[in-house]
Amino acid sequence: MTAKKNDVATEHSASIIVARDLSVHFPIGGGLFQRRQMLKAVEGVNIAIPKGSFFGLVGESGSGKTTLGRALLKANPITRGEVTYHDGEVDYDLGTLPKDKLREYRTRAQLIFQDPYAALSPRMTVRDIIAEPLEVMNLTQSREETDERVRDIAGKCRLNLEHLRRFPHAFSGGQRQRISIARALVSNPRFVVADESVAALDVSIQADILNLLKALQQELGLTYLFISHDLSVVAHICDHVAVMYLGRLVESAPTRELFQRPRHPYTKALLSAIPSLDPDRRNTAQKLTGEIPSPTNPPPGCKFHTRCPHAVSRCREEEPELEFAGTSHEVSCHRWKELDV
Ligand code: SF4
Repeated sequence: MTAKKNDVATEHSASIIVARDLSVHFPIGGGLFQRRQMLKAVEGVNIAIPKGSFFGLVGESGSGKTTLGRALLKANPITRGEVTYHDGEVDYDLGTLPKDKLREYRTRAQLIFQDPYAALSPRMTVRDIIAEPLEVMNLTQSREETDERVRDIAGKCRLNLEHLRRFPHAFSGGQRQRISIARALVSNPRFVVADESVAALDVSIQADILNLLKALQQELGLTYLFISHDLSVVAHICDHVAVMYLGRLVESAPTRELFQRPRHPYTKALLSAIPSLDPDRRNTAQKLTGEIPSPTNPPPGCKFHTRCPHAVSRCREEEPELEFAGTSHEVSCHRWKELDV
């Protein structure tokens, strides 16, 4: 869902994270012979993530998904706009968080990394890896208390006590990802960004980890932002999906609605590219041609017009706003109504 100015009060009570007009820019270049440029990774994003949801964020590489996820954790600087967090116990405005509050926020909002091989220090035991956030953030008073919390979250992530004494190299990819999840959840967060968290795993292991994430959501009352380029995984696990293209949200809808009736040409192209076992469907795939333009020099008007088969002159001049196309379904395309047949 996206956050509009006139329904902020309603969304604030129902959403754990609300971002308004959020932009994240990075300066690049500026060497001896290079002109300094701005990489506009995220531009003017409005998003509201309902409490307790499994919220999917999809798009091609370079669409700004990871940068947006990290900005919501305040792991990336926010160039413009506002991000607020509200879990029913505490409220934070990420733009004005002092250092001590930022430390508190880190206990409530955590990240599960993509690569379970790179994310774990090979020199630490599993116990020390999981315990590290508790020690860094001073969340426990004694080693006994730390051990108790480590054992508790390890059990919830289906690791046994014997695993805690070993080093990461002794584990498979799926087991390592369970260690990463335990580490992310040991501080008892409410909001978790899972960034391509099953992308590096075999398909059979992916299902195991997805089922674990779902079970932990129910047991611990978590809200996930699940970032993925794999739409079949998103369809399986998420209850709402937002689609990003070149730093903007172009469509957002409940999962079933988005998959059954996508409105944006980019979403339609992404969905039609999902591999199918049906030979008839294979021939109906709408091919997405060309590369995503550079975020340092985005095209004027609709950012998708350079690849859109339905582009008209208006698309090259005027950027479309997000508008409602149904309950909780929003799309930014000048022509969605005439193309919705
Ligand atoms: Fe295509 Fe125009 Fe819609 Fe953009 S606004 S998606 S270019 S039809």
